Amino acid sequence: MISFDFEYYRPDTLKEAVDIFLKLDKEGKSPVYYGGGTELISMARVGSQSFGAVVDIKNIPECKVLGFNADTLCLGSAITLSDITEANYFPLLSKTAGRIADHTMQGKITFGGNLASTIIYRETVLPLLLTNARLTVAGKNGLAEVEIGQVFKERLRLQKGEFLVKATIDKKFLIAPYFHVKKTKNEKIDYPLITAEGLKLDGYVRIAFSGLASYPFREANIENMLNDSSLEFSQRADKIVQALSGVITSDLYGSAEYRKYVLKNTIVNILETLKDQ
Ligand SMILES: Cc1cc2nc3c(=O)[nH]c(=O)nc-3n(C[C@H](O)[C@H](O)[C@H](O)COP(=O)(O)OP(=O)(O)OC[C@H]3O[C@@H](n4cnc5c(N)ncnc54)[C@H](O)[C@@H]3O)c2cc1C
Repeated sequence: MISFDFEYYRPDTLKEAVDIFLKLDKEGKSPVYYGGGTELISMARVGSQSFGAVVDIKNIPECKVLGFNADTLCLGSAITLSDITEANYFPLLSKTAGRIADHTMQGKITFGGNLASTIIYRETVLPLLLTNARLTVAGKNGLAEVEIGQVFKERLRLQKGEFLVKATIDKKFLIAPYFHVKKTKNEKIDYPLITAEGLKLDGYVRIAFSGLASYPFREANIENMLNDSSLEFSQRADKIVQALSGVITSDLYGSAEYRKYVLKNTIVNILETLKDQ
C-alpha cells in the first residue's frame, strides 16, 4: 500500500507534459515523470520516495518510436524492455534488456525509466555509451538533442521539468561484433555483480560496465589498456583491474576482491572470444 495520495496526469504531447510538470512543481506538488512505474511504485510502497503527482509519458507519440529514420535507430523512452527484445533491431541492446528483471517486469519497465533509474545499475545505458548515442530531451525551451556523454555522467542529469524523449544510434554499430557478459551472485535473474558489454569496431574493442562501481561507465583509458597489443591478454586484464581498483565496490552481491577476480577472468575471456572477429 502507498501511504500518500498523488495526482495522475497522462498528457498527449511533449509540450503538455512539460507544462503540466512545471505547473505542478510551482504548486509544490513534487511531480515526477512516470514510465513503467515499477521503481516509483515500489519505492513509494516502502516509503523511500514520495510525490504529489505523476506525469505519465506513455501517451506521447515521440516517446513511443521504435524503428529506423535514415541511418539511425530511434528508441523512444516509453518503449518497454519487451518491445526492445521483440523488435531486436540492436542485438546487444536486446541482450541487455532481456537480462533485466523477469519476463513479466520487462513488459512494464521502460527504456527511459531504466536510464533514469535511481538504482545504480541502469544497464540499458551501456549499449548507448558504446555507440555514442544521441539523446533527445524535452524541456521548457522545447527539444534538445545531445551526445550521451553530455547528459549521462554516472547517471542521467536533467534539469527540473526535463525528460528523456528518445535515443538515436547510428546504424553502423548495430552489426558490429559484440559481447555481453552478466555475472550475478546466484540466480540468472538478479542485479549484476558485473555486467561487461562491448563492441569491436575497426579492430578496436570498446567496453562498458555496470555493477562494478556505484554507477555504469565507459572509460577511454580502460579501452586503451584493453587494446594494447604489446601485452598478453592476462597482463591487459591485470592492468585494468589495477586501474579500476579504486572504484570497484563491495556490497551484498560480492566483495571488491571477488569482483576483481571475476573482472580479470571476464576480460581474458572477452579478448579470447573477439581475437579472430
Ligand atoms: C525485479 C526487478 C529486477 C531488476 N533488475 C535490474 C537489473 O538487473 N539491472 C537494471 O539495470 N535494472 C533492473 N531493474 C530495473 C530498475 O531497477 C528500475 O526499476 C526500472 O528500470 C524502472 O523502470 P520504469 O520504467 O518502471 O521507471 P519508473 O518507475 O517509471 O521511473 C523510474 C525513475 O525514472 C524517472 N523517469 C521515468 N521515465 C523517464 C523519462 N522518460 N525521462 C526522465 N526520467 C524518467 C522517474 O521519474 C523515476 O525517477 C529491475 C527491476 C525489477 C522490478
